[in-house]
Amino acid sequence: MSLSQLARTIHESVTLKLNQTAALLREKGEPVIHLGGGEPKSKTPLDAIVSCTAVLNSGDIKYTPPDGIPALKKAIIRYTEEYYGRAVRPENVVASCGAKQAIMAALIAILDPKDEVIFAAPYWVSYPEMVKLAGGVPVAVKPEDGTFYPTVKEIADCIGSYTKAVILNSPNNPSGVMYSRDFIAEMVELCAKKSIYLIMDDTYNRLVFDGKSPINCYDFSKEDIDVSKLLVINCVSKMYAMTGFRIGWAVGSRDLLGAMATIQSQQTSGPATPSQWAAVGALNGVQNSIEALRMTLENNRNILLDHLLAFPGIRVTKPEGAFYCFPDFSNYEQSSQKLAEFLLNKVRVVTVPGKEFGMEGHLRISFCGAPKEITEGIERIRWALDPASPNELYLGDRRLVRDWM
Ligand code: PMP
Repeated sequence: MSLSQLARTIHESVTLKLNQTAALLREKGEPVIHLGGGEPKSKTPLDAIVSCTAVLNSGDIKYTPPDGIPALKKAIIRYTEEYYGRAVRPENVVASCGAKQAIMAALIAILDPKDEVIFAAPYWVSYPEMVKLAGGVPVAVKPEDGTFYPTVKEIADCIGSYTKAVILNSPNNPSGVMYSRDFIAEMVELCAKKSIYLIMDDTYNRLVFDGKSPINCYDFSKEDIDVSKLLVINCVSKMYAMTGFRIGWAVGSRDLLGAMATIQSQQTSGPATPSQWAAVGALNGVQNSIEALRMTLENNRNILLDHLLAFPGIRVTKPEGAFYCFPDFSNYEQSSQKLAEFLLNKVRVVTVPGKEFGMEGHLRISFCGAPKEITEGIERIRWALDPASPNELYLGDRRLVRDWM
């Protein structure tokens, strides 16, 4: 079959693929524990359901402007004022089909062939592929000190004449770390000085732990929004547990956002109308579901950490937000792909290979599921890897015997 060069270079989303594999195995009655997931278990906030149902009941569901209905833009403007302290106008806002489309539209709007986009490893799996889809060149920066915290210098050293943008994601998928205020402040300053775009992927912005406050990049940007190259991405997917609605948005300069709206107008038209109304309900409604989710996740993080810290031979960095942890299992197996396959085959636990996030030897472990699943999942992994574990394990009434050590 003749496929484009581009199509042949783009990798499938591994996380979405794993969801399918886990669902198939579960359908067959296999006792799968899914620690690879990327969505909270909590239900859609009631205000979102009420608002969405009202438009469905009207039966009047039509095309919307490509950059979102006025009511959603208004809700986003209010959100930006409340959580970022920035007053913006409708022309500074685009509503998209998830944060994913907002980032994609931005990349298409700013990249010429060969232009480079820098991001730190470990990175969200989609960044390299999205940059390639937009015709650009992904540049991953791996912190030299072996941590998940890049330094400003490490990023600055990669900025060259082809660099168009830096993407920062904090709290981070897959590591759960939160970059420091100083780091964000210096990055905002550096990108403004070099006149390159800074795309702040704030997908997990308010899901932070240990009494920390979300970091607001606008605190460090003195420029008028219409001359600034700072672009802030958000969505209802994670913080409002509304992944299936597919609503995200971007806030930035009028020129960039205008170009993104034009791109969306040819690409998808406006996001689905009922979903936009659901997002209006979520953003304007009672906000306590986010705090409830944040507390649940912090509790899950603590449970996961207790188990991981007792696990010999692995190296763990404490997640400070989001719902992922990214332990280093290289003492057991260098190839994260092999290890993830082994764990799925032997003990039916789904994890995501670190290789996909630009760091071999690690596995991404999600803690957005039920505490019992987290505990049992880690126990199964430990049983499979730790030579000091007993020789047998029961999965329900299925007896497993360890014959690989
Ligand atoms: N950015 C990051 C860092 C993410 O983890 C995700 C989802 N996994 C997205 C963006 C995309 O979010 P959405 O589902 O709203 O497209």
